[in-house]
Amino acid sequence: MGRHQVGVPFGSMTPLDDVRKVVLSHCGPGPIVLLPATEAHGLVLAADVVATEPVPPFDNTAVDGYAVRAQDVARTPVTLDVIGELAAGGVATDAVREGTAIRIMTGAPIPEGCDAVVMVEDTERVGNSHVAIHKSAASGDAIRRAGSDVQVGVTVLTQGVVVTPMVEGVLASINAGTVSVYRRPRVGILSTGDELVDDGSPLQPGQIRESNRTMLRRIIAETGADVLDIGIVRDDESVLEQVLRDAVNVQHCDALVTSGGVSMGDYDVVKAVLGRIASMQWFQVAMKPAKPFAFGTLTNDAGVAIPVFGLPGNPVSSLMSFELLARPALKSMMGSRHPYRARVHAIVDEDVTRKPDGKTHFDRVHAYWGATDGRVHVRRTGPQGSHQLAATAVANAIMAVPDGVGVGAGDEVTVSFLGPESGPHVS
Ligand code: AMP
Ligand code: MG
Repeated sequence: MGRHQVGVPFGSMTPLDDVRKVVLSHCGPGPIVLLPATEAHGLVLAADVVATEPVPPFDNTAVDGYAVRAQDVARTPVTLDVIGELAAGGVATDAVREGTAIRIMTGAPIPEGCDAVVMVEDTERVGNSHVAIHKSAASGDAIRRAGSDVQVGVTVLTQGVVVTPMVEGVLASINAGTVSVYRRPRVGILSTGDELVDDGSPLQPGQIRESNRTMLRRIIAETGADVLDIGIVRDDESVLEQVLRDAVNVQHCDALVTSGGVSMGDYDVVKAVLGRIASMQWFQVAMKPAKPFAFGTLTNDAGVAIPVFGLPGNPVSSLMSFELLARPALKSMMGSRHPYRARVHAIVDEDVTRKPDGKTHFDRVHAYWGATDGRVHVRRTGPQGSHQLAATAVANAIMAVPDGVGVGAGDEVTVSFLGPESGPHVS
C-alpha cells in the first residue's frame, strides 16, 4: 500500500473476499506472552501444552457402591462382609480381602485388593455389616484408572487451540499454571460526528444519540481484545489527527477502529486525516449494507504499522463491516487459525426480493431449528435499512443473498451466526 493510495476508483466495487485478503495480509499474529491460565480466556495457545500430572491422579470409583474382588462376585447373589467405608477425599487404609467389601463413594480411591466396584443399585444392605450383591462384576468394572483422561507427558492441547471455558477446565485439571498465548491486542475505538451525544442530555436540533461505539466496544471485547474507549471525536481535522496520533503513540494501541466519516461527504474528516497521516485504501465493498470501508496502517513513532479500520457511520453498516472485515482481522492478530465465522446452509422461510446491483446483501435474520425437517431455518428480523439497528439487534445470524433478483421461500441460503465467543476484557 502506498501512502495516500486510493485502492480502487470510486464507483467500482471490490468483492468482499478480496477486501478480506488485503486486510488479513496486514493483520498477522501478534507477540506471544506467558499468562496465568486463569487469565488466558479467549486467547489462542501459542505452544502445545504437555501434561505433567495425570488425570485422574489415582485409580478411583466411577460409582457409589461396594469395592469388591471380581472373583468373589462372579456368581450372584452372594453376601459379603462390609469391613469399612470410604468417601471421596478419603484414603484407603483397609484392603479388600476374600469375602469382604468396602462401601465406597464416587471419586474415592480404589482400596488395595479391590478390582471392581458394584453399584449400590445392584446391592442390598443386610444389617450393619453385610451386603448382598445381586449382579456380578468383571475385573475393572466401574474403576476409573489413573491417567485415563490425561496421561503424564502427552500433548493434551495443541498450539492454535482457543482457551474456552472447557480448555480452562482442562488446564486447571493438570495444574498448568501458565500458558503461552498470543497477547490480547489493545484496540482503540472512537466515533466521529458533530451530531453525536452520549451524555444523556436533551437532544438539540440536529443531534442524535451515539450508539456505534457503545455497541462496538463490547463486540471488540468479545473477540478477546482489550478495548480502549477513546470516545466521541468532533469533526475537526486537527483534533482527530491528535487523537489518532496519541492512540498509537501514547496509548499504545495495537489497532484502531473508527466509526463514521469515511464516505463521500464534505465533513468526512476520518477520510481527510487518515488520507494524510496513514497509508490507506478506501474500499467500495460489493456488499449491502456497509459499502464504504477504509483500511490501512498508521505507523507509530516506534515504526510499527498499526492497522486502522475505518467503519461507516450508519449503525448497521458499522456493525456489518466490523463483523465481516475487522473482526476476522482482530482474530488473526490474536493467532486464530480460523478467523472467519463458520457458515451453514439454511432454509429461508420467506421470499426475499432484491434488484441486481453487483453486491451481496447481508440480511439480518433469526435462525432456528426446524423441528419438522431438521434443518436450520431463517427469517428476517425486520427492516433492513442501514440506520435501523433495532431490527438487527434481535438477529442471531446473517444471511447472504447473492447478487440477482433474490431468493424464494424454501430456497437454501448461506448463514453465519453472530454473537460472542469469549468473555469481556474492557479497560
Ligand atoms: P457518516 O458515516 O459519518 O457519514 O455517518 C452516516 C450516518 O450514521 C449519519 O446519519 C450519522 O449521523 C450516523 N452515525 C455516525 N456515527 C454514528 C454513531 N457513532 N452512532 C450512531 N449513528 C451514527
Ligand atoms: Mg459523520
